Order: sequence, then C-alpha cells, then structure tokens
Amino acid sequence: MMIKKQTTTRQCQFCTNNVKGIDYKDVELLKNYLDTHMRISKHRRTGVCAKHQRSLALAIKHARFLALLPYLAG
Ligand SMILES: [Zn+2]
Repeated sequence: MMIKKQTTTRQCQFCTNNVKGIDYKDVELLKNYLDTHMRISKHRRTGVCAKHQRSLALAIKHARFLALLPYLAG
C-alpha cells in the first residue's frame, strides 16, 4: 500500500509580498497567525518560511507586551 506524502507547498506570504520586516502594530495581520487559543501558529500550518516565522513571532510577542494582542484567549 502506497501512502502519499502530502505535498502542499505554500509559498510564504511575506516572501511573495516582498515584506522585509513585520510591523507589530499591524494587529489584524498578526491575528491571522494566531490560533483559537491566541497561540502563535506553527509554520507548517501557516506556510510561513523560517525567516519570517521568527520575525512574526517576535512581532506578536512585541504586540502582546504592548497589550495589542492577548497572551491567552478568554
Ligand atoms: Zn518568508
């Protein structure tokens, strides 16, 4: 039995838009990368490359510190 490996190679959204730095003030954008529990989504889920995942996580943490985003849902 052959098990096909899922090959859903999504291009990183930030790379395609040629985004260099992710703005921590852009809350609406950052919300797209949080799950229902307001945790940062894994790059496998979002298709963001390693470089942008790092700057995205940093931007979310920065936004959390400034109370733009919650640490936990509910
Ligand atoms: Zn990228």
